[in-house]
Amino acid sequence: MKKIYADVLVLGAGAAGLAAAAKAKEFGAEHVVLLDEKEELGGVLPQCIHPGFGLHYYREDLTGPEFAFRLYEKVRNLGVEVHNQAYAIELIPRKYDEKIVRASSPEGLLDIHAKTVIFATGARERQRHEIGIIGYRPIGVYTAGQAQTMMDLYGMMPGKEIVIVGSGDVGLIMARRFALQGAHVKAVIEILPYPGGLTRNIQQCLIDFGIPLYLSHKVISVNGTKRVEGVIVGKVDEKLNTIPGSEFEIKCDTLIVSAGLLPRVELLMRAGAFMDPATKSAVVNEYLETTIPGVFLAGNALVINDLVDYAAEQGEAAATSAIKFIQEGGFPSCVQKSVVKGRNVRLIVPQLITGENDVFFYGRVSQPEEDVYLKVPEVGMKLRMLRVKPPEMLRFKIRKKQFENLEEDKITISVEPRSEG
Ligand SMILES: Cc1cc2nc3c(=O)[nH]c(=O)nc-3n(C[C@H](O)[C@H](O)[C@H](O)COP(=O)(O)OP(=O)(O)OC[C@H]3O[C@@H](n4cnc5c(N)ncnc54)[C@H](O)[C@@H]3O)c2cc1C
Repeated sequence: MKKIYADVLVLGAGAAGLAAAAKAKEFGAEHVVLLDEKEELGGVLPQCIHPGFGLHYYREDLTGPEFAFRLYEKVRNLGVEVHNQAYAIELIPRKYDEKIVRASSPEGLLDIHAKTVIFATGARERQRHEIGIIGYRPIGVYTAGQAQTMMDLYGMMPGKEIVIVGSGDVGLIMARRFALQGAHVKAVIEILPYPGGLTRNIQQCLIDFGIPLYLSHKVISVNGTKRVEGVIVGKVDEKLNTIPGSEFEIKCDTLIVSAGLLPRVELLMRAGAFMDPATKSAVVNEYLETTIPGVFLAGNALVINDLVDYAAEQGEAAATSAIKFIQEGGFPSCVQKSVVKGRNVRLIVPQLITGENDVFFYGRVSQPEEDVYLKVPEVGMKLRMLRVKPPEMLRFKIRKKQFENLEEDKITISVEPRSEG
């Protein structure tokens, strides 16, 4: 067993982890260790060869590999200690300023004793069985990420006649990717009555390529025993149950499942961090600190982000907090106030605030709506928005001075029709 000491240990070398490691070094942390299970750094970015990355962070339109490379160069030049092919298997919070992360690596087991840990472990894709698709398990069923890896990292085509489940951004981007590669994308199937992806992606990935989108439909089962031969699709009612008699078959040889992402935070959960069922990740305060002191979250491990820019921004914020934690021996022991989800707010991060800092909030609505106010009555905030949609993240800031006269032990964030004042 090899022992390593770190001021800041970053788990996961995607956009969030790379940005966190670089920021921690820039802010003067002496020993920053970055660990990733993969051989190549960058997380999901190396397989995303399309443009659309970095419009906010770099104010440039980059591909995923370009975005990753820039961050990686910075990490390397700043002297971060990188361990690739190293998989973190356990988090042991030992003392206030010491956590041990055990990892399996080519060098054997590593025990990393860290003052602070940043979880930037990204997210995993939901599988076919998690969305209730029945049938045999023939060749030709892949998640979007698996298909993307096959095509863009290994140059292999998963199939020729494609049906995609899920109209989130990943599903839409894969529809376009298959079309560009000469496959026939027969349909994108979405169970909800509205698309799951950004408006720009609906236009650029489906409409521009004439790919049909079936809203309020679901894939019920897969036909074929050795290779996929088709899928049975049905229309659903408001409760998302199949309407009897609405079923039809779409012939295809490949089914791509793009049914959402789940934060990879099992180690945090096992270590006892308090979890939020809405984000399916750990509860954090505005320092992005979990309920385990000195353990922080960033990127898709914190909340599923539409944009890489937000993942990198959260990585930097978590690193800034980690340095503050080390320099000040933790955060002032103050009463944390709850952030309550009000009308039409499905999730919100952070879930706790101290009221002593400016706070960036990231959230999602439950339902699309037009002409609304985003309201936080306890701090007198009322922000007009032309429209809100579940796929498009809410991101807003409440300034420290707005918390000054806050007497309640909570703030409530809600989205309300403008007509109701
Ligand atoms: C197909 C697709 C298209 C996209 N298109 C765009 C776009 O056009 N524009 C845009 O802005 N954004 C886009 N995004 C979103 C953006 O890429 C992501 O939000 C961002 O890259 C997530 O970064 P991350 O660091 O949080 O996670 P990840 O990139 O997932 O990195 C997490 C890393 O942690 C590692 N890890 C996990 N657990 C462990 C462990 N226990 N031990 C060691 N390592 C571990 C993983 O292997 C991975 O390398 C797209 C995403 C996808 C998947």
